[in-house]
Amino acid sequence: MTESKAVFLKPKKEVSILRRHPWVFSGAIRAIEGAVQSGDLVAVHANKGRLLGYGHYSSGASIAVRMLTFDETVVDQEWWNSKIEGAVRMRKELKLIDGDHNSICRLVHAEGDGMSGLIVDYYDRVAVVQTHSLGMRHSLNAIKQGLVDALGKDLVGIYNKSAKILRKLRVESEDAWIYGKAPNAWAPEEYGAAFEIDILLGQKTGFFIDQRENRNLLKDYAAGKSVLNVFSYTGGFSVTALLGGATKVDSLDSSSRALELAHSNALANGFASQVHGCIEADAMEFLKSGVADYDIVVLDPPAFAKSVSARHKAVQGYKRINSRALESMKKGSLLFTFSCSQAVDDRLFTHTIISAAIQAGREVQILHRLHQPPDHPVSAFHPEGAYLKGLVLRVN
Ligand code: SAH
Repeated sequence: MTESKAVFLKPKKEVSILRRHPWVFSGAIRAIEGAVQSGDLVAVHANKGRLLGYGHYSSGASIAVRMLTFDETVVDQEWWNSKIEGAVRMRKELKLIDGDHNSICRLVHAEGDGMSGLIVDYYDRVAVVQTHSLGMRHSLNAIKQGLVDALGKDLVGIYNKSAKILRKLRVESEDAWIYGKAPNAWAPEEYGAAFEIDILLGQKTGFFIDQRENRNLLKDYAAGKSVLNVFSYTGGFSVTALLGGATKVDSLDSSSRALELAHSNALANGFASQVHGCIEADAMEFLKSGVADYDIVVLDPPAFAKSVSARHKAVQGYKRINSRALESMKKGSLLFTFSCSQAVDDRLFTHTIISAAIQAGREVQILHRLHQPPDHPVSAFHPEGAYLKGLVLRVN
């Protein structure tokens, strides 16, 4: 089917693909055969002609091909069904779907699930799909079918939320329900906490699912404590801290819409305004005024480095907000601090936080090193997929 559309690599450029790394950079391509267009499925060959596998081609992008298979296996409906079924089965084994009190998880984590360019998040029988390449955009029907077959009664709606991402690739797309819709009695839950998810207008697919286990850790520390949740978005860490017995939680974000949802999420879980406050502010400005009133501070900023070239500036940003927070934190308090920048790895993040502590003149202990949860798996062949890292520090 795709034999006529093929990409041939320069000598030796097949090495990373033989190691099952799924990205072919544009500079690795020697020749393109057939009327290949952006979004096409192409056969990828080594310089001398050996077939390496199939992937989605993107013209003009630095990642020119995102590999889907690494042998002669063709990418047909059967392939999609088996990949998606495998991804769903893993989440079921983790008890993240139809498990006790949890109905929120990531179903497909791009390279981590062998589907480079595709994200699918799951909120109580509703799947939200994000296609990050034109090839995935073209595969939307096959993806829909795969989700319907794999999830059965556990699926009543699929929303395609790719317009903003595809616009960056100069591809027009409209966000829309592509299968069913959200049910009337729709109640997404994370370990028993109810969350209102704004799929249509919220950031990403509506919620930052990747912090589930880290929120759960905060719950263990929260009893009797006052908590400041900086970059709170819709109050994920705030609600979990309250459920863990925090006496007072303040959610801080620059987005009033996010704070409205944080407030209604606190209320929906039984916490009134006396115990949950909203602070609409710029994080850095607020931190300057001191955080000595709190026993626990959470810092979960948006990705400061969206690319490797922005790494240095991002590191400065992490250092600044962390040293600002550490300066005024009280003795014995805890800092939960995170980075979701792919370009800043574990080591670099730890070093940055250590230098922030030195700058703030504080002695800190590392109690926990945190990562993304198993429904955001990292392919062993694609270490770049490990993007979320965090530290829990005790400030002395
Ligand atoms: N911790 C959240 C996710 C944080 S997403 C959770 O668990 O759900 C990052 C948030 O930072 C967004 O809500 C965004 O509105 C907010 N934000 C971005 N820049 C900010 C700034 N300068 N000051 C305060 N909040 C900011």
